[in-house]
Amino acid sequence: MITIDGSYGEGGGQILRTSLALSLVTGQPFTIENIRAGRKKPGLMRQHLTAVNAATQIGNAEVSGNQIGSQQIFFEPKEIRPGSYRFAVGTAGSTTLVMQTVLPALMVADGPSELVIEGGTHNPYAPPFDFLQKAFLPLINRMGVKITADLEKPGFYPAGGGCFSIHIEPCGKLSGLEIIKRGEIVRRKATAYVSKIPDHVAKRELKVIAKKLNWDKEFLFIEEVKNSPGPGNILTLEIESESITEVFTGFGEYGVRAEQVAASTIKDVREYLASEAPVGRYLADQLIVPVALSGGGKIRTLPPTRHTTTNIDVLVQFLNMDVRLNDLGNHVWEMEIRRQS
Ligand code: AMP
Repeated sequence: MITIDGSYGEGGGQILRTSLALSLVTGQPFTIENIRAGRKKPGLMRQHLTAVNAATQIGNAEVSGNQIGSQQIFFEPKEIRPGSYRFAVGTAGSTTLVMQTVLPALMVADGPSELVIEGGTHNPYAPPFDFLQKAFLPLINRMGVKITADLEKPGFYPAGGGCFSIHIEPCGKLSGLEIIKRGEIVRRKATAYVSKIPDHVAKRELKVIAKKLNWDKEFLFIEEVKNSPGPGNILTLEIESESITEVFTGFGEYGVRAEQVAASTIKDVREYLASEAPVGRYLADQLIVPVALSGGGKIRTLPPTRHTTTNIDVLVQFLNMDVRLNDLGNHVWEMEIRRQS
């Protein structure tokens, strides 16, 4: 049986989610120990427990240790059951990370699925819904599945209370993914979202974008969100190139000035644009499991993060795959995933 040390590498929730996702798709049971051992509040938090329980339902799994605070679980899936599910993270925990756990299995299931997930939709340290819809899912759909996601209600950190739905139409055989070149930039867009906070926050963020990135007014948008339960502010910068769309997000926070939120988002965009890598840091770690499922692929990305290297280490424990990371220079790395020969 596979035993995963949850404190290894990145050592957070990612190692648990990737293990669950791979256990579901391969049918292999696993035990994970030392879950989030080095974190301030170790063990399963509400959001991780929701992911475990979602995987349990979808995989009709036998599970033990699925309680808040637990640092060890055993998980054995029996079958994948596509269908309609509703999962509630309960707090502002990330809805998209729950989806990340069960999506690979549902992409190759023998029928369509519809998930409704309630909680936070725009959380720091998690894929925001806009990133999911505009950057991640279009690449996944390129592999042959048909996935659409709709934001019913945004849930900003810390109040949460959002909801999104996702419809997954699997395909018989996934085709591999190769993203080597970015191509020309064909569109750019900055959107400042504000919910229950003054719109001067959005205006100030966009002013910084206009000045520092030299973006014309026609690329700048303000969205006043009316249907979110709590206050919130996020800034998304989209860079659409010929072969890929990347989305960079800044999160407004109490005590952090709008100008600072804009400046840190600009820093990420500049770093991306200064390199020729098409795939940004976050997409890179999130594509590993789907690309492995398709049998392999090749992407060029920014220098790999701990999330990426940890995901690779978990992947090779479940699947006979080889993953190579090559430094091509100028902040471009090539990640090649293929079946072991
Ligand atoms: P963890 O830190 O273990 O909870 O995992 C975080 C996950 O969220 C990883 O898959 C990251 O790629 C992803 N992530 C974090 N921040 C962002 C962001 N700003 N945009 C897109 N994905 C993100």
